[in-house]
Amino acid sequence: MMKHIACSEHVELAMEMIIDEEETAPNIEILTNQHDLSTDCEFCQNPAKYIVSVEN
Ligand SMILES: [Zn+2]
Repeated sequence: MMKHIACSEHVELAMEMIIDEEETAPNIEILTNQHDLSTDCEFCQNPAKYIVSVEN
């Protein structure tokens, strides 16, 4: 499974990366209190807000 962790600014970038590489629409999950809130965005240092993933 390919997965990117992104803030709201970079969620579109993460989606585009998956679409380019996998040629399929990704699933987007919103990080909630059940997830690890200390996770940072992969593309900047803001707290992550989304998990963008695709099942292979
Ligand atoms: Zn970011």
